[in-house]
Amino acid sequence: PRLRLAISSCLLGERVRFDGGHKRDTYITEALNAYFDFVPVCPEVAIGMGTPREPIRIVKTSQGLRARGVRHSELDVTDPLRQFGEVMAEELGDIDGYILKKDSPSCGMERVRVHGTGGAPSRTGTGLYAQVFMARRPWLPVEEEGRLNDPVLRENFFERVFVHYRWRQIGA
Ligand code: SF4
Repeated sequence: PRLRLAISSCLLGERVRFDGGHKRDTYITEALNAYFDFVPVCPEVAIGMGTPREPIRIVKTSQGLRARGVRHSELDVTDPLRQFGEVMAEELGDIDGYILKKDSPSCGMERVRVHGTGGAPSRTGTGLYAQVFMARRPWLPVEEEGRLNDPVLRENFFERVFVHYRWRQIGA
């Protein structure tokens, strides 16, 4: 059987972004799809935000980091994004890796912009869906599409994916 990787849907060319666009990554769709089956996940669409939609961003608040609307800060989707991370960490039991969309306030693995009360945003955040997912599945290999352009990081990721696969077969 081919290995299965979960992936942020927009990277496959699905028009699920807030503006109705996508972020198709040709390395993924033209090279990697020869070797892997992809399981597309768009957390923002899955929690019912629709497309197109209000863009969100991570904001530092007195209740911690929250995912809020850029134009309408009363829109707060932190809890549904986190809950969806819990659900998918359970549901995606048969994947051996996850490719996440960089910089996304939902999917980003690291260095996501965090907006404070003033000044420039700091690049210290993790997407709120991705954060919960990764915490629940600490042994699952995870990468961002941008980092897969680096041959060393790419090789390292696929090695971890194959090790995870073999380990899962033994455990099954
Ligand atoms: Fe959906 Fe994640 Fe892509 Fe945003 S980055 S459009 S939440 S899959």
